[in-house]
Amino acid sequence: DKIRGAANGDGRTAFSFEFFPPKTEEGVENLFDRMDRMVAHNPSFCDITWGAGGSTADLTLDISNRMQNMKVMYPVYIDLLNSDIDLESALPDRAITKSVLVFDSIDSFMQICVETMMHLTCTNMPVEKIDHALDTIKSNGIQNVLALRGDPPHGQDKFVQVAGGFACALDLVQHIRAKYGDYFGITVAGYPEAHPDMIQDGIATEEAYNSDLTYLKRKVDAGADLIITQLFYDTDIFLKFVNDCRQIGITCPIVPGIMPINNYKGFLRMTGFCKTKIPDKITNALEPIKDNEEAVRAYGIHLGTEMCKKILANGINTLHLYTLNMEKSALAIIMNLGLIEESKVLRSLPWRRPTNVFRV
Ligand code: FAD
Repeated sequence: DKIRGAANGDGRTAFSFEFFPPKTEEGVENLFDRMDRMVAHNPSFCDITWGAGGSTADLTLDISNRMQNMKVMYPVYIDLLNSDIDLESALPDRAITKSVLVFDSIDSFMQICVETMMHLTCTNMPVEKIDHALDTIKSNGIQNVLALRGDPPHGQDKFVQVAGGFACALDLVQHIRAKYGDYFGITVAGYPEAHPDMIQDGIATEEAYNSDLTYLKRKVDAGADLIITQLFYDTDIFLKFVNDCRQIGITCPIVPGIMPINNYKGFLRMTGFCKTKIPDKITNALEPIKDNEEAVRAYGIHLGTEMCKKILANGINTLHLYTLNMEKSALAIIMNLGLIEESKVLRSLPWRRPTNVFRV
């Protein structure tokens, strides 16, 4: 399915997880283990990034295709001891081990598929390569693309349009709609603080901000269904951005991109690169704990939870988590918001470690 429906919501709060392609084969397998556990919590979709400069093109395609076709068995629990469920027939293709039989309660098994969105950038991508990527995911049943211009390749300052390629995300959106019609749900990037190219000495002028917004509307008018925002740490800036988008007639869902702070150096690197404003409150809270990784992560979970609570309280019912391929902080935040239960976090993936996880 296309995710515009899922993210638009049916009244329930929806959340989604972003991952990036790991560098090693072992890293990829670890990522799939982690995804297995995270997908059990029923995100509305998961997405996988396109490496800077197209550096991970083949891997991103492989991971996307595998993600779309993975299936996760998700147990739903009620009092097994008092029911007649026959595990052998409930799970015909799984070995039923003794440890599985020690569940104290089980209701049924839902099979969850992962709605996948692949990021695609224009950097170093002539149109033939773009079409190859789109044809490949289409033939694997993927219906969602995050259409991006991309950053300049490593070592270069400015984005340069490659011969036979596109100059900006708007071109890519237009191309996807012209060539693939309505097949793909298209997402585009939005920048609550304006795109970093528009920011000089820490601020974007009103003119630059408005020009960025007008350009975003052109991406939506060209066929984008959904906007996911760049990370931010000042929730008021995000809420103002949503309001400004609505004022100029952007009506599609705008999904906030939330990046939990996992470690101090990574936080400084990302916010420096994206030119993100850091409220004093956050700087002051981090300063005394910056060398204590565990304390920083705990603060990141607290902060992420508070930000999301405020966003939800303002009528936005979708959250997108930049997981950085880590599960703890993202899951802790959605658990704190009451979107998943603690028992389900502990119980995800019973097949791998049943005796550690379940009460016997
Ligand atoms: P565009 O939408 O094309 O525009 C960038 C800026 O240039 C605009 O904001 C606008 O100010 C200006 N601009 C461009 N064309 C015009 C025009 N015709 N008229 C006026 N102004 C114009 N990068 C990766 O390499 N891989 C990823 O997987 C990836 N995923 C991302 C996911 C999200 C949610 C976000 C927010 C960013 C992601 N990025 C990724 C980073 C992104 O590639 C960079 O921010 C890049 O510099 C801009 O891409 P864009 O699609 O926003 O570009």
